[in-house]
Amino acid sequence: MMLLTKKMIEIRGILQEIANNGSGSSSLTRVQLPSIVVIGSQSSGKSSVLEAIVGHEFLPKGNNMVTRRPIELTLVNSPDAAAEYGEFPALKLGKITDFSQIQRTLTDLNLAIPDSEAVSSDPIRLNIYSPHIPDLTLIDLPGYIQLAAADQPESLKTKISALCDKYIEAPNIILAISAADVDLANSTALRASRRVDPRGERTIGVVTKMDLVEPQRALEILQNKNYPLQMGYVGVVSRIPSSRASNGLLFRLGSGSESTDIGAVIARNEENYFSHHPEFSQVLENGKADLLPAGARLNEQRPTLGVINLRNKLMRTLEKTMAKNLQPTCDAIHQELEETAYQFKVEYNDRPITAESYLAQSLDAFKLSFKEFAGKFGREQVKSMLKSELDQYVLDLLAQRYWNHLEPTNSNSQAEVANAIVRAISDLPNASRDDVYWLRQLDACVSSLTKSGVGRTSTTLVSNALSGEMEHLLNSGSFKTHPFVKTVIQDATNEILNSRFYSTADQVENCIKPYKYEVEVEDREWSRSREHAFALLKEELRQCEHAYGVLQKSVGGGKKLAQVETFVEKSIKGQVKVEDANEVYGFSQALLDRGREGIFLSKRADILRLRMQALKSKQCRSENRFYCPEIFLDVVADKLTQTAVLFLNVELLSDFYYHLPRELDVRVGHGLSSAQIEHFAREDAKVRRHLELQEKKQKLEMATEKIEGVIAMQKTHR
Ligand code: GDP
Repeated sequence: MMLLTKKMIEIRGILQEIANNGSGSSSLTRVQLPSIVVIGSQSSGKSSVLEAIVGHEFLPKGNNMVTRRPIELTLVNSPDAAAEYGEFPALKLGKITDFSQIQRTLTDLNLAIPDSEAVSSDPIRLNIYSPHIPDLTLIDLPGYIQLAAADQPESLKTKISALCDKYIEAPNIILAISAADVDLANSTALRASRRVDPRGERTIGVVTKMDLVEPQRALEILQNKNYPLQMGYVGVVSRIPSSRASNGLLFRLGSGSESTDIGAVIARNEENYFSHHPEFSQVLENGKADLLPAGARLNEQRPTLGVINLRNKLMRTLEKTMAKNLQPTCDAIHQELEETAYQFKVEYNDRPITAESYLAQSLDAFKLSFKEFAGKFGREQVKSMLKSELDQYVLDLLAQRYWNHLEPTNSNSQAEVANAIVRAISDLPNASRDDVYWLRQLDACVSSLTKSGVGRTSTTLVSNALSGEMEHLLNSGSFKTHPFVKTVIQDATNEILNSRFYSTADQVENCIKPYKYEVEVEDREWSRSREHAFALLKEELRQCEHAYGVLQKSVGGGKKLAQVETFVEKSIKGQVKVEDANEVYGFSQALLDRGREGIFLSKRADILRLRMQALKSKQCRSENRFYCPEIFLDVVADKLTQTAVLFLNVELLSDFYYHLPRELDVRVGHGLSSAQIEHFAREDAKVRRHLELQEKKQKLEMATEKIEGVIAMQKTHR
């Protein structure tokens, strides 16, 4: 009844999952289940024995020290397995049915350890499933070497020994491989095992290459009196026959599921050899349990022959060792569980968590912050945003059309200034009502404003504000540590906004169309815009004066700036020569530029003061668009804003506020795969730890339940 090993392999699998999932303190190291550890010198026939047991060639081959890492091999007898296959649980490569592929992967994993390091204690885990193998856990270790080769580090010998020593500790079973053609007294494997197991209680001796010495000599070796083992010695001829056709069987080595079980070929080969030599006839019977009278126990100490006997012995021994270690293992798992449960209580107050619940919670929190934002960013905010954008536009128009005086530069000739068609703003109040020049100026401004693409501008403004706010919410809210979901939400945001962009812009544009032809102004509107325009000019003046102050400081004071300005003005009038600036007056080119800027700023300030006065004047108190373009343009900007906002609010803002939460539900709430949700939750370090500890606890509970079941089963069995 070999059920125990199978169950224990399952339990070991659970414990390994905990060790693999765990990061840092939550990983598990203490509970250890017994395995069979295979040690032997290089070329002693270690690989051949393991492959005979598995029935396939799958181990790395070659002279270049190809086993550099421990290979933890779990054999799982699976009667239903359609094909035999291997799995590297850590690599997630899936089921590999081609054993030559397993061999290549193992070779790559081993050769990844650089020559300078030569060995590593980091194990490779490989599970093999087949109906033809027993349940076993075997650990293959790098072969002992006698002398390091020229290109290997001197310390290699000690490094390999140290690695093997770590694995041959109790409760593991040692499979010590020695070749018959090498004196057993020199067997490194037996010497190592004797050090840790002097009474020979947990060592199985395997003598390979029995065919290379005389049968009589081979039998003597199996009786090794120097180091008697309670589980005895097994003699094998495990060489894989080199001929492709053996005993009439054609087998293709390492060609996956097609290949013949090389274990069977070796066994047949061995049987041929042993049965041809009558000296072995007595020993051949030893390992056969089915020859014993009912209830009698096999004497494990007696030597046996052949890989099949070896395989059976391994199964029996592992099963017995597992049974012996059952209670201590159970206790260790229990203790680990108690500690984990305690930690879970203290740190998380036993609060359960799932990746899904974390996602739902994060989504709710995000939706809440979105709702708060939506409450704060409505029609009024859009209005003031758009209005200040248009205010700026109006100020630019005014500067272009009204406040411009030709800037004094070296290239302006006096004639140019004189011929300028530009009329000074100071002329405006004196102009007659039907002065075409001023009429055209105002028309040009209004048309510029109404045809400036308010539809596009305002839609872009609101779209940008919304996506900017989304960006802010994503970077500060519950998704800040989750780049993938952030991208999903950003995509949803962009899609919604983009899909509405053109229609919104068009609608706005259509609705403001009437203002392109006719603008009527009510008194109420006029007086409100009068105040607003005044405030705008006041602010413009403040900025102008501030800039002038900064300029003064930059040249070393107001006096200096005034001197430079005077020079620049005189040079324009031709009273001084610009060429003399540096040599005669000591004014650099940069200084002259500042002087020009100073003149510009003070003229601009003068105009602003003048216009502020005009705005205050009686003439501007009631509708007089001709004298007070600043007020009139503000009325227009205001009307454009009001109209645009009406549509922006309905077409873009409300629509976005309605659709985004629904998209969040669709794309984040229901749209992620379980793997994506798991990944999502673990992106957050705190949540990952919580989940890991909880999983560890659950797995330990599962392991405890299983092992307790096994113990109960053992008791009933007895
Ligand atoms: P490892 O380095 O310990 O893994 O040894 P291998 O299993 O690779 O075997 C080394 C060499 O010994 C190979 O050429 C095998 O074919 C050969 N060999 C292994 N077992 C036997 C055996 O029982 N009899 C004979 N004659 N050769 C064997």
